[in-house]
Amino acid sequence: AQPINLENEPILGYLKGSEERVGLENALQHRQSAVEEIPIVIDGKEYWTDDVHYQTMPSNHQKKIAKFCYATPELLQKAIGVSLKARSTWEKVPLNKKVDIFLKAGDLVSTKYRSQLNASTMLGQGKTVFQAEIDAACELADFLRFNAEFAQRLYDYQPVNVDPSIKNSVRHRGLEGFIAAISPFNFTAIGGNLAYAPAIMGNVVLWKPSDTAMLSNYIVFRLMEESGIPPGVVNFLPAEGPTFGRAITNSTHLSAINFTGSVPTFHWLWKQVGENVDRFRNLPRLVGECGGKNYHLVHSSANVEHVVNSTLRGAFEYSGQKCSATSRLYVPSSLWKQVKEGLIEGMKQMKIGPVTDFDSFTSSVIDTRAYDRITSYIKHAEQSPDLQIIAGGQRNKSVGYFIHPTLVETNNPRDRIMVEEIFGPVLTAFVYDDSALEETLDLIDSSTSFALTGAVFAEDREFLVQAAERLKMSCGNFYINDKSTGAVVGQQPFGGGRLSGTNDKAGSPHYLLRWTSPQSIKQYF
Ligand code: GLU
Repeated sequence: AQPINLENEPILGYLKGSEERVGLENALQHRQSAVEEIPIVIDGKEYWTDDVHYQTMPSNHQKKIAKFCYATPELLQKAIGVSLKARSTWEKVPLNKKVDIFLKAGDLVSTKYRSQLNASTMLGQGKTVFQAEIDAACELADFLRFNAEFAQRLYDYQPVNVDPSIKNSVRHRGLEGFIAAISPFNFTAIGGNLAYAPAIMGNVVLWKPSDTAMLSNYIVFRLMEESGIPPGVVNFLPAEGPTFGRAITNSTHLSAINFTGSVPTFHWLWKQVGENVDRFRNLPRLVGECGGKNYHLVHSSANVEHVVNSTLRGAFEYSGQKCSATSRLYVPSSLWKQVKEGLIEGMKQMKIGPVTDFDSFTSSVIDTRAYDRITSYIKHAEQSPDLQIIAGGQRNKSVGYFIHPTLVETNNPRDRIMVEEIFGPVLTAFVYDDSALEETLDLIDSSTSFALTGAVFAEDREFLVQAAERLKMSCGNFYINDKSTGAVVGQQPFGGGRLSGTNDKAGSPHYLLRWTSPQSIKQYF
């Protein structure tokens, strides 16, 4: 195996006048002055249809940045056929060659395409420079490099050999058929990981990117081509969701779905697979990450300043549009006054503005649907006697889909604002009696159906042990004295259980195990 440097890609600062800042500003300018024409790409060939759509800037929705078209059912059929052909050659490419491609891609992300990836993620997905950098530059490069390493580790594993007359071995094979990757808008890196992690294990992929992440995802696709991924291995297929879903689940050759998105969509895909179960040559694997209702639990021994800073970041960075965003806050009554004042003060300091203003703490939400959904929760808070808006609540979509970070207090910890995923900048706090710790732990675990991330803030070690035990199944990523967001590839493998998904842990070797169909070989001499 080739030695791979497992340091995470450093986060650059983009200070005024720095080389990276100049590069990014040029890329931002270029991307705002042009509308990129994005084709459907099947087997390296470009296709266009009449079903034309545009990607606009969420912070300035009159501004178009990309034009693309939806693939027809016929083109999706073609992509299935083409990918199956590509599979037979790609599968034979030795792992070390695939590793070379992925390492080259990691370097293209961190150098040549860094500004383009960041600019397209900022403008198209409404990320501030820091949020784009940790995603489209760092996490994407990390996924590529770490997956190369994890693939090598899996290939290195061999079964036990005890009898000199018997040689046992395992060899990895890509799944038989094609994999469908359906990726979300909120992380460029997740798009890259959903489509390319299966590829390094020898699979071929039909990739349906999100309409609202089209430009950045297309740049990822092209840079992977430049790195040496052969045509047909990953096919770039903008498409209408149900059309794509039906095309893949109607095919005998569907081997897996790699999904990140909403619970209802994932459930729909499961049902489609169930309906078609008699058709499949192999039982499709369904891998999904579907959101959360993530909590911060504050103990009376916690450091208040740290709680406040972590909660502001966990709840409001990228306007809460992370599956891991903090949306439930539990504070003991002894600390509430201080925590509340800290949060209000911090929220006053936050600058909400266009992504091109490098001082913006956060910008708009992604689209009109998101705006309406989030607004409906704020209206609910305005109207319900159980809820009180303590800060924020303002919104305006005349230019961009702007919603201010909003802090709500509730005396009903089972109100739907504490139960349902909002996927926006709305944080709800429930103040518990200091003596009701046990009940609060039970409440946190039982009041939602999600289990993605959660955090406990305390200095009291005994309490931390108790909380870690009681909250064991409440999340897939558990943080002790740190915010619920920001898992780092390789360091905190990411994923959750219950309705949050299949917990296959992106950014770890576990994830790659889903993309291999190993064969055990016993050789008798
Ligand atoms: N991995 C990201 C984090 O830990 C969240 C990914 C997501 O939103 O799906 O914040």
